[in-house]
Amino acid sequence: MPGLKIDLHTHSTASDGTTPPELLVREALDSGLDALALTDHDTTSGWDAAAEALPVGLRLVRGAEISCSRNGISLHLLAYLFDPAYAPLADRMRELRESRVNRAEQMVRMLVADGVPVTWEQVRLLADGTVGRPHIAQALVQSGLVESVADAFTPEWIGTHGRYWGAKLELDVVEAIGLVEEAGGVAVFAHPGASSRGRTVGDDVIVEMAAAGLVGLEVDHPDHTPEARAHLNRLAQELGLLTTGSSDFHGRNKTVALGAHLTSEDAYGAILARASGLDVL
Ligand SMILES: [Zn+2]
Ligand SMILES: [Zn+2]
Repeated sequence: MPGLKIDLHTHSTASDGTTPPELLVREALDSGLDALALTDHDTTSGWDAAAEALPVGLRLVRGAEISCSRNGISLHLLAYLFDPAYAPLADRMRELRESRVNRAEQMVRMLVADGVPVTWEQVRLLADGTVGRPHIAQALVQSGLVESVADAFTPEWIGTHGRYWGAKLELDVVEAIGLVEEAGGVAVFAHPGASSRGRTVGDDVIVEMAAAGLVGLEVDHPDHTPEARAHLNRLAQELGLLTTGSSDFHGRNKTVALGAHLTSEDAYGAILARASGLDVL
């Protein structure tokens, strides 16, 4: 019997993906997936639409990707099946969302101040959910200043530490892991070795995270080289962490397809068994 196809990291229009949550679950089933995690940035606002539209034959793991940092380096934490009503975590996630909007406004102000023909209204209309950098990038494309969204994520524009880039709030990752655990959720380090996106934390930080309650490492990710995967697999084994795989699907904002990388049934089962905040749907 062929194994289940499980993709544990995807984005919808509730954050910076281009597929609405209710269509994402249908696309997931059509792509042959058996289980999908919806993990929008710092928000659970896509959960209900995905759950209501959930087709027979697809399991939905409700999750989020939380903006964190450690030692001044940004990193992302996947949190699965946590209780969204647990106030200490919900409050921190709201602060992260507010900071994203403030930061997007700041970046647009910097562009406008330099005479770049984009407006806040234009950017806001491009976002269904939380306004993010991809929406500013789309506005730059609309205005004919860059050819593609990727061309906007460069030092001349809104790439990290770029000319029109603004910093946003991030949670200390050890604090975030603690909050996720208290909320009955399961924490997995998203794309720990995606060095093409900027600086990554060292193994010493992963050791600290494991001690704080981290459950797994996302090893099979589109941004990981074969060397990074081999290294992370060894590290996970040493630290007793499970390993996951996923597409980090963003719809048309990236070229990766749903199910491009998958999580094993064993790791999926271990995540469900460990979670006490919510059930898989
Ligand atoms: Zn991420
Ligand atoms: Zn992601």
